[in-house]
Amino acid sequence: MEYKRILLKLSGESLQGKQGFGIDTERLHEYTEQIKAIAQQGVQVAIVIGGGNIFRGLSGSKRGFDRVKGDQMGMLATCINALALASAFEAIDQPVRVLTSICMEPIGNHYSPDKAKRLLNKGNVVILAGGTGSPYFTTDTGSSLRALEIQADVMLKGTRVDGIYTADPEKDPTARKFETITYDEVIRRGLKVMDQTATVMCKENGMPIYVFNMDKPGNLGKVMNGEKIGTLVTP
Ligand code: UDP
Repeated sequence: MEYKRILLKLSGESLQGKQGFGIDTERLHEYTEQIKAIAQQGVQVAIVIGGGNIFRGLSGSKRGFDRVKGDQMGMLATCINALALASAFEAIDQPVRVLTSICMEPIGNHYSPDKAKRLLNKGNVVILAGGTGSPYFTTDTGSSLRALEIQADVMLKGTRVDGIYTADPEKDPTARKFETITYDEVIRRGLKVMDQTATVMCKENGMPIYVFNMDKPGNLGKVMNGEKIGTLVTP
């Protein structure tokens, strides 16, 4: 296995699947099966889940919501997704625990890095909900923070494209894919693969980022086997 402990970032939007809103149970099933397969092979998996399928603070504030409250609504949205994911794992007998960055027991235990590592060492998939717990951040930044805190070997960003491209491949047919790219190049080119705060944080602390298409079943296993199907971001 390429990695022993991973932090997997899944966007809320990806949970919409084909239906284009809310939570698609088929997509949940595909994701949890892929993750269970690598967990059963001994990979420790922590997941940070987004909330964009339900609410985003920034778009809320454009509609007149207070930004801090809007961001708190967004963080609660990630908790809804976390519960959906957790129940999908339970349905396929994969041990799972939800930890929340905001105290909201009994929905999940309050997050601490030690708690997360203990649960991972016991073979649980650990879902980290609530982002960083602070407004003005995103779950991308939550992912880089948690990846560092739990000493993950890599932060994996599961997306619906095959990696990082010179431009958005869904809009620009001439876009080329990078097999590897430096943090500085991602920032310099303003590539929107994840927000800059998250990229800088990984850069400053030496956390590798791997971007790949999580929507093709089996791809997560390929990444674990060292197949170069996505883009690796390095120093
Ligand atoms: N959010 C926040 N702080 C965090 C993480 C998330 O305030 O540390 C809020 C923010 O409003 C964000 C929303 O939660 O728009 C949903 O998260 P995100 O946009 O990262 O979800 P994704 O795009 O991954 O679905």
